[in-house]
Amino acid sequence: MNRKDIANALRDMGLDNGATVMLHSSMLSLGNVDGGPEAVIDAFLDAVGPQGTLMVPVFGALGILTEIVKKRPEAVISPCSKGTVAAIGAKAKILCAGHGAGKTVHGDSSPYTRLAELNGVICLLGVDQDRNTTLHAVEALLELPYLSDTTGTYTMPNGATQEKTWQYYPGPHRDFIGLERFLRAENAITVHRLGNAQVRLIKAKDLFAIGLRLGRQNPAFALCDNPACEACVKQRAAINRDRCQHEAFHLTASARLAGKYLPEIIDNLKAAGLDAVELDYLQGKACAGMSAEKLAGAVQELTAAGIAVSALRIPHIPEAAEPLLKLAAAAGITRVIMPLCPTSADAVAAAPQNGIRLAFADHGQPGQLAARDFAAFSTNPTCGFCFSATAFVKAGEMPFLQSYRLGRFVKTIEQLDLADMTWTEEPARLARGNAEIKELISILRCHHFTGWFSLGGGARFPGSLKDAADDLLKLIDAM
Ligand SMILES: [Zn+2]
Repeated sequence: MNRKDIANALRDMGLDNGATVMLHSSMLSLGNVDGGPEAVIDAFLDAVGPQGTLMVPVFGALGILTEIVKKRPEAVISPCSKGTVAAIGAKAKILCAGHGAGKTVHGDSSPYTRLAELNGVICLLGVDQDRNTTLHAVEALLELPYLSDTTGTYTMPNGATQEKTWQYYPGPHRDFIGLERFLRAENAITVHRLGNAQVRLIKAKDLFAIGLRLGRQNPAFALCDNPACEACVKQRAAINRDRCQHEAFHLTASARLAGKYLPEIIDNLKAAGLDAVELDYLQGKACAGMSAEKLAGAVQELTAAGIAVSALRIPHIPEAAEPLLKLAAAAGITRVIMPLCPTSADAVAAAPQNGIRLAFADHGQPGQLAARDFAAFSTNPTCGFCFSATAFVKAGEMPFLQSYRLGRFVKTIEQLDLADMTWTEEPARLARGNAEIKELISILRCHHFTGWFSLGGGARFPGSLKDAADDLLKLIDAM
Protein backbone atom coordinates (compact mmCIF):
# COMPACT_ATOMS: atom_id res chain seq x y z
CA MET A 1 0.00 0.00 0.00
CA ASN A 2 1.06 3.53 -0.59
CA ARG A 3 -0.24 6.93 0.48
CA LYS A 4 -2.70 7.09 -2.42
CA ASP A 5 -4.12 3.59 -1.81
CA ILE A 6 -4.73 4.38 1.83
CA ALA A 7 -6.32 7.79 1.13
CA ASN A 8 -8.68 6.18 -1.39
CA ALA A 9 -9.56 3.38 1.01
CA LEU A 10 -10.31 5.88 3.79
CA ARG A 11 -12.57 7.91 1.48
CA ASP A 12 -14.42 4.70 0.57
CA MET A 13 -15.02 4.09 4.28
CA GLY A 14 -16.54 7.57 4.61
CA LEU A 15 -13.57 9.52 5.91
CA ASP A 16 -13.68 12.12 3.16
CA ASN A 17 -13.63 15.85 2.52
CA GLY A 18 -14.14 17.93 5.64
CA ALA A 19 -14.27 15.02 8.10
CA THR A 20 -13.06 15.56 11.66
CA VAL A 21 -11.31 12.38 12.81
CA MET A 22 -10.04 11.19 16.18
CA LEU A 23 -7.47 8.50 15.35
CA HIS A 24 -6.37 5.72 17.70
CA SER A 25 -3.92 3.48 15.92
CA SER A 26 -1.36 0.71 15.74
CA MET A 27 1.06 1.12 12.82
CA LEU A 28 2.12 -2.52 13.21
CA SER A 29 -1.40 -3.66 12.36
CA LEU A 30 -1.21 -2.19 8.85
CA GLY A 31 1.66 -4.24 7.49
CA ASN A 32 4.04 -2.78 4.92
CA VAL A 33 3.34 0.74 3.69
CA ASP A 34 5.45 2.56 1.07
CA GLY A 35 6.74 5.68 2.76
CA GLY A 36 6.13 4.25 6.24
CA PRO A 37 4.15 5.95 8.98
CA GLU A 38 4.61 9.44 7.47
CA ALA A 39 2.73 8.23 4.39
CA VAL A 40 -0.12 6.93 6.57
CA ILE A 41 -0.59 10.31 8.25
CA ASP A 42 -0.37 12.08 4.88
CA ALA A 43 -3.01 9.71 3.55
CA PHE A 44 -5.39 10.60 6.41
CA LEU A 45 -4.80 14.32 5.73
CA ASP A 46 -5.34 13.76 1.98
CA ALA A 47 -8.61 11.92 2.64
CA VAL A 48 -10.14 14.60 4.86
CA GLY A 49 -8.76 17.44 2.70
CA PRO A 50 -8.01 21.03 3.72
CA GLN A 51 -11.42 21.43 5.40
CA GLY A 52 -10.90 18.28 7.45
CA THR A 53 -9.07 17.68 10.71
CA LEU A 54 -7.01 14.83 12.16
CA MET A 55 -6.73 14.53 15.95
CA VAL A 56 -4.77 12.04 18.06
CA PRO A 57 -4.40 11.51 21.82
CA VAL A 58 -0.84 12.28 22.97
CA PHE A 59 -0.58 10.80 26.47
CA GLY A 60 0.49 7.43 27.77
CA ALA A 61 2.52 5.16 25.52
CA LEU A 62 2.43 6.87 22.13
CA GLY A 63 2.33 4.91 18.91
CA ILE A 64 4.48 5.97 15.99
CA LEU A 65 1.55 7.54 14.08
CA THR A 66 0.70 9.67 17.11
CA GLU A 67 4.35 10.78 17.45
CA ILE A 68 4.34 11.90 13.84
CA VAL A 69 1.20 14.02 14.20
CA LYS A 70 2.53 15.58 17.41
CA LYS A 71 5.88 16.51 15.81
CA ARG A 72 4.50 18.13 12.68
CA PRO A 73 5.01 21.91 12.79
CA GLU A 74 1.36 22.62 11.93
CA ALA A 75 0.05 20.49 14.85
CA VAL A 76 -1.93 22.21 17.59
CA ILE A 77 -1.35 20.65 21.03
CA SER A 78 -4.13 21.01 23.59
CA PRO A 79 -3.14 22.97 26.73
CA CYS A 80 -4.12 20.29 29.30
CA SER A 81 -1.35 18.03 30.64
CA LYS A 82 -3.84 15.17 31.14
CA GLY A 83 -5.76 13.63 28.27
CA THR A 84 -3.73 15.82 25.89
CA VAL A 85 -4.49 15.76 22.15
CA ALA A 86 -2.70 16.98 19.03
CA ALA A 87 -4.64 18.06 15.96
CA ILE A 88 -3.87 19.11 12.40
CA GLY A 89 -6.38 20.80 10.10
CA ALA A 90 -9.22 23.29 9.81
CA LYS A 91 -10.82 22.56 13.23
CA ALA A 92 -7.60 21.89 15.16
CA LYS A 93 -7.74 25.13 17.14
CA ILE A 94 -11.45 24.78 17.93
CA LEU A 95 -10.88 21.24 19.21
CA CYS A 96 -7.92 22.14 21.42
CA ALA A 97 -8.84 25.62 22.70
CA GLY A 98 -9.30 25.82 26.45
CA HIS A 99 -8.82 22.08 27.01
CA GLY A 100 -8.51 21.76 30.77
CA ALA A 101 -10.07 25.15 31.57
CA GLY A 102 -13.18 23.41 32.92
CA LYS A 103 -13.64 21.07 35.88
CA THR A 104 -12.89 17.86 33.95
CA VAL A 105 -10.24 16.64 31.52
CA HIS A 106 -12.61 14.69 29.30
CA GLY A 107 -16.04 16.29 29.82
CA ASP A 108 -17.64 19.54 28.66
CA SER A 109 -15.48 21.84 26.49
CA SER A 110 -12.85 19.15 25.99
CA PRO A 111 -11.61 18.02 22.55
CA TYR A 112 -13.64 14.83 23.13
CA THR A 113 -17.03 16.50 23.51
CA ARG A 114 -16.15 19.02 20.79
CA LEU A 115 -15.44 16.12 18.46
CA ALA A 116 -19.12 15.16 18.80
CA GLU A 117 -20.30 18.77 18.44
CA LEU A 118 -18.36 18.95 15.15
CA ASN A 119 -19.97 15.69 13.94
CA GLY A 120 -16.60 14.02 14.19
CA VAL A 121 -15.70 10.36 13.77
CA ILE A 122 -13.62 8.08 15.99
CA CYS A 123 -11.31 5.85 13.97
CA LEU A 124 -9.81 2.78 15.66
CA LEU A 125 -7.08 1.60 13.29
CA GLY A 126 -5.91 -1.87 14.32
CA VAL A 127 -6.91 -1.25 17.95
CA ASP A 128 -10.07 -1.98 19.95
CA GLN A 129 -12.44 -0.03 22.22
CA ASP A 130 -9.90 -0.32 25.03
CA ARG A 131 -8.08 2.58 23.36
CA ASN A 132 -11.20 4.66 22.75
CA THR A 133 -10.50 7.68 24.96
CA THR A 134 -13.85 9.25 24.11
CA LEU A 135 -15.41 6.67 26.44
CA HIS A 136 -13.67 8.56 29.29
CA ALA A 137 -15.68 11.58 28.20
CA VAL A 138 -18.91 9.58 28.55
CA GLU A 139 -17.87 8.57 32.09
CA ALA A 140 -16.94 12.16 33.00
CA LEU A 141 -20.26 13.56 31.71
CA LEU A 142 -22.08 10.94 33.80
CA GLU A 143 -20.01 12.05 36.85
CA LEU A 144 -19.69 8.41 37.85
CA PRO A 145 -18.95 7.93 41.56
CA TYR A 146 -15.87 5.75 40.99
CA LEU A 147 -14.03 8.51 39.12
CA SER A 148 -11.52 10.55 41.11
CA ASP A 149 -9.56 13.80 41.11
CA THR A 150 -6.31 14.25 39.20
CA THR A 151 -3.76 17.04 39.21
CA GLY A 152 -1.73 18.41 36.30
CA THR A 153 -0.90 21.62 34.51
CA TYR A 154 -3.06 23.83 32.32
CA THR A 155 -1.43 26.26 29.91
CA MET A 156 -3.41 29.48 29.70
CA PRO A 157 -3.88 31.33 26.38
CA ASN A 158 -1.12 33.79 27.41
CA GLY A 159 1.33 30.88 27.71
CA ALA A 160 1.56 30.88 31.50
CA THR A 161 0.95 27.55 33.21
CA GLN A 162 -0.97 26.79 36.36
CA GLU A 163 -1.37 23.65 38.43
CA LYS A 164 -4.95 22.40 38.34
CA THR A 165 -7.03 19.62 39.84
CA TRP A 166 -9.71 18.11 37.65
CA GLN A 167 -12.66 15.99 38.77
CA TYR A 168 -14.07 12.75 37.37
CA TYR A 169 -10.80 11.31 36.08
CA PRO A 170 -10.84 7.62 35.18
CA GLY A 171 -9.30 4.76 37.17
CA PRO A 172 -7.20 1.79 36.16
CA HIS A 173 -9.58 -0.73 34.57
CA ARG A 174 -12.83 -0.82 32.67
CA ASP A 175 -14.38 -3.22 30.21
CA PHE A 176 -14.54 -0.89 27.20
CA ILE A 177 -14.10 -3.90 24.92
CA GLY A 178 -17.41 -5.26 26.22
CA LEU A 179 -19.21 -2.09 25.12
CA GLU A 180 -18.67 -2.64 21.41
CA ARG A 181 -21.62 -5.05 21.22
CA PHE A 182 -23.96 -2.19 22.18
CA LEU A 183 -22.57 -0.03 19.35
CA ARG A 184 -23.02 -2.93 16.96
CA ALA A 185 -26.58 -3.58 18.13
CA GLU A 186 -27.51 -0.02 17.15
CA ASN A 187 -25.53 0.07 13.90
CA ALA A 188 -23.34 2.79 15.41
CA ILE A 189 -20.10 1.20 14.25
CA THR A 190 -18.74 0.12 10.88
CA VAL A 191 -15.79 -2.25 10.54
CA HIS A 192 -13.50 -2.13 7.50
CA ARG A 193 -10.22 -3.62 6.32
CA LEU A 194 -7.07 -1.63 5.54
CA GLY A 195 -4.01 -3.74 4.75
CA ASN A 196 -3.89 -6.24 7.61
CA ALA A 197 -5.71 -3.90 9.97
CA GLN A 198 -9.32 -3.81 11.05
CA VAL A 199 -10.63 -0.25 11.00
CA ARG A 200 -13.57 0.67 13.26
CA LEU A 201 -15.46 3.91 12.63
CA ILE A 202 -17.89 5.37 15.14
CA LYS A 203 -19.66 8.74 14.99
CA ALA A 204 -18.74 10.49 18.24
CA LYS A 205 -22.34 11.69 18.62
CA ASP A 206 -23.61 8.10 18.51
CA LEU A 207 -21.02 7.01 21.06
CA PHE A 208 -22.16 9.73 23.47
CA ALA A 209 -25.86 8.98 22.94
CA ILE A 210 -25.46 5.25 23.53
CA GLY A 211 -22.86 5.55 26.31
CA LEU A 212 -24.84 8.17 28.25
CA ARG A 213 -28.00 6.10 27.99
CA LEU A 214 -26.25 2.91 29.19
CA GLY A 215 -24.61 4.80 32.05
CA ARG A 216 -27.86 6.35 33.24
CA GLN A 217 -29.46 2.90 33.27
CA ASN A 218 -26.51 1.31 35.04
CA PRO A 219 -23.57 3.32 36.44
CA ALA A 220 -21.45 0.13 36.39
CA PHE A 221 -21.96 -0.24 32.61
CA ALA A 222 -18.27 0.24 31.79
CA LEU A 223 -16.89 -2.00 34.56
CA CYS A 224 -15.83 -5.59 34.11
CA ASP A 225 -17.55 -8.31 36.15
CA ASN A 226 -14.43 -10.34 36.86
CA PRO A 227 -14.51 -10.83 40.65
CA ALA A 228 -10.70 -11.08 40.64
CA CYS A 229 -10.35 -7.58 39.14
CA GLU A 230 -9.58 -5.50 42.24
CA ALA A 231 -10.01 -2.23 40.34
CA CYS A 232 -13.55 -2.98 39.20
CA VAL A 233 -14.54 -4.49 42.59
CA LYS A 234 -13.47 -1.19 44.18
CA GLN A 235 -15.24 0.87 41.54
CA ARG A 236 -18.47 -1.08 42.05
CA ALA A 237 -18.19 -0.49 45.80
CA ALA A 238 -17.92 3.25 45.11
CA ILE A 239 -21.13 3.08 43.08
CA ASN A 240 -22.96 1.22 45.88
CA ARG A 241 -21.66 3.60 48.55
CA ASP A 242 -22.77 6.60 46.49
CA ARG A 243 -26.18 5.00 45.95
CA CYS A 244 -26.69 4.56 49.72
CA GLN A 245 -25.45 8.04 50.54
CA HIS A 246 -28.50 9.37 48.75
CA GLU A 247 -30.72 7.44 51.16
CA ALA A 248 -31.85 8.49 54.63
CA PHE A 249 -31.35 5.00 56.13
CA HIS A 250 -28.00 3.66 57.33
CA LEU A 251 -26.78 0.35 55.97
CA THR A 252 -25.07 -2.36 57.99
CA ALA A 253 -24.64 -6.10 57.57
CA SER A 254 -24.46 -9.20 59.71
CA ALA A 255 -20.84 -10.25 60.32
CA ARG A 256 -21.92 -13.87 59.74
CA LEU A 257 -23.14 -12.94 56.26
CA ALA A 258 -19.98 -10.92 55.52
CA GLY A 259 -17.63 -13.82 56.26
CA LYS A 260 -16.04 -16.05 58.85
CA TYR A 261 -12.74 -14.34 59.72
CA LEU A 262 -12.17 -10.61 60.17
CA PRO A 263 -9.93 -9.95 57.12
CA GLU A 264 -12.49 -11.68 54.90
CA ILE A 265 -15.34 -9.80 56.58
CA ILE A 266 -13.57 -6.46 56.08
CA ASP A 267 -12.80 -7.19 52.40
CA ASN A 268 -16.37 -8.25 51.68
CA LEU A 269 -17.88 -5.23 53.45
CA LYS A 270 -15.60 -2.91 51.47
CA ALA A 271 -16.38 -4.62 48.17
CA ALA A 272 -20.09 -4.17 48.86
CA GLY A 273 -19.54 -0.48 49.68
CA LEU A 274 -20.49 -0.85 53.38
CA ASP A 275 -18.91 1.04 56.28
CA ALA A 276 -20.70 -0.74 59.15
CA VAL A 277 -21.15 -4.25 60.52
CA GLU A 278 -23.41 -5.88 63.09
CA LEU A 279 -21.37 -8.27 65.25
CA ASP A 280 -23.46 -11.42 65.61
CA TYR A 281 -21.05 -14.28 64.85
CA LEU A 282 -17.29 -14.40 64.28
CA GLN A 283 -15.57 -17.61 63.23
CA GLY A 284 -18.87 -19.45 63.62
CA LYS A 285 -19.27 -18.47 67.29
CA ALA A 286 -21.69 -16.00 68.84
CA CYS A 287 -19.89 -12.75 69.66
CA ALA A 288 -21.93 -12.62 72.86
CA GLY A 289 -19.88 -15.59 74.08
CA MET A 290 -16.47 -14.05 73.35
CA SER A 291 -14.14 -12.62 75.98
CA ALA A 292 -14.10 -8.84 76.34
CA GLU A 293 -10.44 -8.75 75.16
CA LYS A 294 -11.16 -10.75 72.03
CA LEU A 295 -14.25 -8.72 71.18
CA ALA A 296 -12.41 -5.44 71.82
CA GLY A 297 -9.61 -6.63 69.51
CA ALA A 298 -12.14 -7.33 66.75
CA VAL A 299 -13.74 -3.90 67.21
CA GLN A 300 -10.30 -2.26 66.99
CA GLU A 301 -9.40 -4.17 63.84
CA LEU A 302 -12.68 -3.18 62.20
CA THR A 303 -12.36 0.46 63.27
CA ALA A 304 -8.81 0.61 61.90
CA ALA A 305 -10.18 -0.60 58.56
CA GLY A 306 -12.82 2.16 58.55
CA ILE A 307 -15.70 -0.15 59.53
CA ALA A 308 -18.01 0.96 62.34
CA VAL A 309 -19.77 -1.55 64.59
CA SER A 310 -23.49 -0.81 64.35
CA ALA A 311 -24.35 -3.20 67.20
CA LEU A 312 -23.48 -6.29 69.18
CA ARG A 313 -26.27 -8.72 68.42
CA ILE A 314 -27.33 -11.30 70.98
CA PRO A 315 -28.83 -14.15 68.93
CA HIS A 316 -30.47 -16.07 71.77
CA ILE A 317 -32.51 -15.10 74.80
CA PRO A 318 -29.88 -14.45 77.48
CA GLU A 319 -30.17 -15.70 81.04
CA ALA A 320 -28.92 -12.38 82.34
CA ALA A 321 -28.73 -9.13 80.39
CA GLU A 322 -26.29 -7.08 82.42
CA PRO A 323 -23.09 -9.11 81.74
CA LEU A 324 -23.75 -8.74 78.02
CA LEU A 325 -24.10 -4.97 78.29
CA LYS A 326 -20.84 -4.88 80.26
CA LEU A 327 -19.18 -7.01 77.58
CA ALA A 328 -20.33 -4.60 74.86
CA ALA A 329 -19.19 -1.57 76.85
CA ALA A 330 -15.79 -3.15 77.56
CA ALA A 331 -15.33 -3.81 73.84
CA GLY A 332 -16.23 -0.22 72.92
CA ILE A 333 -19.64 -1.09 71.44
CA THR A 334 -22.47 1.33 72.26
CA ARG A 335 -25.51 -0.48 70.85
CA VAL A 336 -26.89 -3.93 71.63
CA ILE A 337 -29.64 -5.84 69.84
CA MET A 338 -31.29 -8.62 71.82
CA PRO A 339 -34.51 -10.61 71.64
CA LEU A 340 -37.57 -9.03 73.24
CA CYS A 341 -37.88 -11.29 76.28
CA PRO A 342 -38.38 -11.37 80.06
CA THR A 343 -34.81 -10.11 80.68
CA SER A 344 -35.48 -7.01 78.54
CA ALA A 345 -36.50 -4.97 81.59
CA ASP A 346 -33.17 -5.81 83.32
CA ALA A 347 -31.33 -4.72 80.19
CA VAL A 348 -33.20 -1.42 80.09
CA ALA A 349 -32.34 -0.81 83.75
CA ALA A 350 -28.63 -1.57 83.20
CA ALA A 351 -28.25 0.25 79.88
CA PRO A 352 -27.63 3.85 81.07
CA GLN A 353 -24.68 3.12 83.38
CA ASN A 354 -23.04 1.06 80.61
CA GLY A 355 -23.64 3.75 77.99
CA ILE A 356 -25.60 1.31 75.80
CA ARG A 357 -28.46 1.95 73.43
CA LEU A 358 -30.80 -1.06 73.13
CA ALA A 359 -32.84 -2.49 70.31
CA PHE A 360 -35.25 -5.34 70.98
CA ALA A 361 -35.99 -7.80 68.20
CA ASP A 362 -39.09 -9.93 67.85
CA HIS A 363 -38.19 -13.62 67.91
CA GLY A 364 -41.32 -15.54 67.04
CA GLN A 365 -44.16 -13.84 68.86
CA PRO A 366 -47.04 -12.35 66.79
CA GLY A 367 -46.87 -8.62 66.06
CA GLN A 368 -49.48 -7.52 68.55
CA LEU A 369 -47.84 -9.52 71.35
CA ALA A 370 -44.44 -8.10 70.51
CA ALA A 371 -45.93 -4.61 70.49
CA ARG A 372 -47.52 -5.23 73.89
CA ASP A 373 -44.24 -6.53 75.37
CA PHE A 374 -42.36 -3.60 73.90
CA ALA A 375 -44.92 -1.01 75.06
CA ALA A 376 -43.25 -0.72 78.48
CA PHE A 377 -40.07 0.59 76.79
CA SER A 378 -41.56 2.37 73.82
CA THR A 379 -41.32 5.84 75.36
CA ASN A 380 -37.78 5.19 76.67
CA PRO A 381 -35.48 7.29 74.48
CA THR A 382 -32.64 4.73 74.75
CA CYS A 383 -34.71 1.85 73.32
CA GLY A 384 -35.92 1.04 69.84
CA PHE A 385 -37.53 -1.87 68.03
CA CYS A 386 -35.62 -4.13 65.66
CA PHE A 387 -38.12 -5.48 63.13
CA SER A 388 -37.22 -9.04 62.11
CA ALA A 389 -39.67 -9.85 59.35
CA THR A 390 -38.49 -13.48 59.16
CA ALA A 391 -39.38 -14.01 62.83
CA PHE A 392 -42.92 -12.84 62.09
CA VAL A 393 -43.01 -15.27 59.15
CA LYS A 394 -42.08 -18.03 61.62
CA ALA A 395 -44.99 -16.85 63.78
CA GLY A 396 -47.24 -17.34 60.76
CA GLU A 397 -47.96 -13.64 60.22
CA MET A 398 -47.69 -11.45 57.16
CA PRO A 399 -44.89 -9.17 58.39
CA PHE A 400 -46.06 -5.99 56.65
CA LEU A 401 -49.83 -6.36 56.29
CA GLN A 402 -50.30 -7.83 59.76
CA SER A 403 -47.31 -7.55 62.14
CA TYR A 404 -46.05 -4.10 61.14
CA ARG A 405 -49.47 -2.49 60.86
CA LEU A 406 -51.22 -4.11 63.83
CA GLY A 407 -48.20 -3.61 66.10
CA ARG A 408 -47.94 0.06 65.04
CA PHE A 409 -44.16 -0.28 64.80
CA VAL A 410 -43.91 2.81 62.63
CA LYS A 411 -43.18 4.91 65.73
CA THR A 412 -40.66 2.66 67.46
CA ILE A 413 -38.75 0.88 64.70
CA GLU A 414 -35.05 1.71 64.56
CA GLN A 415 -33.82 -1.28 62.56
CA LEU A 416 -35.21 -3.43 59.78
CA ASP A 417 -33.47 -6.78 59.31
CA LEU A 418 -33.02 -7.42 55.61
CA ALA A 419 -33.59 -11.14 55.32
CA ASP A 420 -36.38 -13.12 53.74
CA MET A 421 -38.01 -16.50 54.28
CA THR A 422 -40.84 -18.59 52.87
CA TRP A 423 -43.80 -19.91 54.90
CA THR A 424 -41.94 -23.23 55.01
CA GLU A 425 -39.05 -21.38 56.69
CA GLU A 426 -36.66 -21.70 53.75
CA PRO A 427 -34.24 -18.75 53.68
CA ALA A 428 -34.85 -16.67 50.52
CA ARG A 429 -33.18 -13.85 48.59
CA LEU A 430 -34.70 -10.42 49.36
CA ALA A 431 -38.30 -10.14 48.14
CA ARG A 432 -38.26 -13.79 47.06
CA GLY A 433 -39.95 -15.09 50.21
CA ASN A 434 -42.96 -14.19 52.35
CA ALA A 435 -41.33 -11.53 54.56
CA GLU A 436 -42.82 -8.64 52.52
CA ILE A 437 -39.36 -7.06 52.53
CA LYS A 438 -40.05 -4.86 49.52
CA GLU A 439 -43.16 -3.41 51.16
CA LEU A 440 -41.30 -2.79 54.42
CA ILE A 441 -38.34 -1.10 52.71
CA SER A 442 -40.70 1.03 50.65
CA ILE A 443 -42.88 2.22 53.54
CA LEU A 444 -39.84 3.08 55.68
CA ARG A 445 -38.29 5.06 52.83
CA CYS A 446 -41.61 6.91 52.50
CA HIS A 447 -41.23 7.90 56.17
CA HIS A 448 -37.66 9.10 55.64
CA PHE A 449 -36.47 6.32 57.98
CA THR A 450 -33.05 7.28 59.38
CA GLY A 451 -32.41 4.04 61.32
CA TRP A 452 -30.54 0.89 60.27
CA PHE A 453 -31.16 -1.56 57.46
CA SER A 454 -29.20 -4.70 58.33
CA LEU A 455 -28.32 -7.07 55.48
CA GLY A 456 -28.69 -10.62 56.77
CA GLY A 457 -29.55 -9.32 60.25
CA GLY A 458 -31.17 -11.91 62.51
CA ALA A 459 -31.54 -14.67 59.92
CA ARG A 460 -29.68 -16.80 57.40
CA PHE A 461 -29.33 -15.33 53.92
CA PRO A 462 -29.00 -17.81 51.02
CA GLY A 463 -26.16 -16.05 49.23
CA SER A 464 -23.17 -13.78 49.74
CA LEU A 465 -23.09 -10.28 51.20
CA LYS A 466 -22.63 -9.01 47.65
CA ASP A 467 -25.83 -10.82 46.63
CA ALA A 468 -27.71 -9.23 49.53
CA ALA A 469 -26.41 -5.73 48.69
CA ASP A 470 -27.26 -6.25 45.01
CA ASP A 471 -30.77 -7.42 46.01
CA LEU A 472 -31.32 -4.29 48.11
CA LEU A 473 -30.13 -1.87 45.42
CA LYS A 474 -32.19 -3.66 42.78
CA LEU A 475 -35.29 -3.41 44.97
CA ILE A 476 -34.73 0.28 45.58
CA ASP A 477 -34.08 0.92 41.88
CA ALA A 478 -37.38 -0.83 41.14
CA MET A 479 -39.38 1.40 43.49
ZN1 LIG B 1 -11.99 -4.76 35.79
